[in-house]
Amino acid sequence: MAEELDPFKIAQIQLDEAAEIMDLDKQVHAMLREPMQSVTVNFPVRMHSGATKEFTGFRVLYNNARGPGKGGIRFHPAENIDTVKALAAWMTWKCALADIPFGGAKGGVIVDTKRMSETDLEALSRQYIRSIGSFVGPHTDVPAPDVYTNPQIMAWMADEYSKMHGRDEFGMITGKPLELWGSQGRFDSTAVGGMYVLREAAKLRKMNLRKARVAVQGFGNAGHFALDLVTKMFGSKVVAISDSGGGVYSPGGLDYKKLQEAKAKGSVDDYRGGQKITNEELLDLDVDVLIPAAIENQITKANADKVRAKMVLELANGPVTPEADKILFERGIPSMPDFLVNSGGVIVSYFEWAQNISGYYWTKEDVYSRLDTIITRSFRDVVNAQREHKGRKINYRMAAYTIAIGRVAAAMKARGWY
Ligand code: NAD
Repeated sequence: MAEELDPFKIAQIQLDEAAEIMDLDKQVHAMLREPMQSVTVNFPVRMHSGATKEFTGFRVLYNNARGPGKGGIRFHPAENIDTVKALAAWMTWKCALADIPFGGAKGGVIVDTKRMSETDLEALSRQYIRSIGSFVGPHTDVPAPDVYTNPQIMAWMADEYSKMHGRDEFGMITGKPLELWGSQGRFDSTAVGGMYVLREAAKLRKMNLRKARVAVQGFGNAGHFALDLVTKMFGSKVVAISDSGGGVYSPGGLDYKKLQEAKAKGSVDDYRGGQKITNEELLDLDVDVLIPAAIENQITKANADKVRAKMVLELANGPVTPEADKILFERGIPSMPDFLVNSGGVIVSYFEWAQNISGYYWTKEDVYSRLDTIITRSFRDVVNAQREHKGRKINYRMAAYTIAIGRVAAAMKARGWY
């Protein structure tokens, strides 16, 4: 049978598996299999040419039992409601696992921004937030940047929303520029959080990170910070990196500055002083830590038995499929789950929201130290949950799911929803 790669089906399969392990109440399980609210908007935008063009966008509020929705906005030509639903579900578990006061949400617009002028991009951003305006807000659902959206787009959206309400509403969206009360430490928060998880996981597995060889897939926001930080924080050696153009391998270690220069010319594949490798080859390398930081469905049942890394740190969302998960687990290779490893981004989003709501702003040191406290606590929760379920051997992902689902279900119960 073909492996299931539809993201929403994968999200449901993972939920079903966790529900079975934790003997979840059937009614709450059924409620958690579908989003609470799913909005599709078709909206016209006046382009700078003078013509109007219609766009389709989505905003899914998966579950808000624990607080307002939280989740990014993607501008992507292949955006579709099923992907948005899956990502909204994963945001629900991510926020619950981090134990921050948000539910899960996600949004997107079907658009190829590479072909748009800045003026058109601004018009689109403002019109999209108007179209979903009654479904978002600081106490209902708080968006953030994601694929092909950025702090400038968040600033336009905050401005538009504030105009709609006749008052400043900076807490309605996060990932804003510092000038508009974004948070210190936001840029590299995902990778920094991932590094704190790696530190704890290495302690647990008795891995010496100073001697560790690391391979990173993806040289975007998450990947390039991770590559830099793993060396700066732990002295590990990054021996391989790849992006959509291909990869490079050097057993003696790669130079971050030279990689940046190669990337500026097009791809890390242009790095001089290493051996060219494909993305598939990178995943099979004999390394201590493999960090998938690119796209989903990279380790599948087709290649999971070839992975030689001693540990997988899932910085990307959904890089390991459910079937691959089982293979890695059987082979004794721990895969640190995405919604734990990459939760640093949403945790610092929460800090931004808290700062906006209170009007009191923190230093970068405050941000990193509070992030460390929260993500380290989450890591320990996951390890303890795995221990508790030892009678029924489960992996870290399922342990994380049982915690997150348990917290959401408890809030639903307290609210009297079942
Ligand atoms: P990005 O667009 O900045 O970078 C993606 C990188 O992946 C690029 O280097 C691209 O060349 C590479 N890539 C694309 N296809 C590839 C392929 N087939 N093989 C190898 N490399 C490929 O994206 P990002 O923000 O770094 O996000 C990467 C992953 O991390 C995504 O799964 C995202 O959902 C997840 N994530 C990111 C953040 C964040 O704060 N940036 C937060 C949470 C999760």
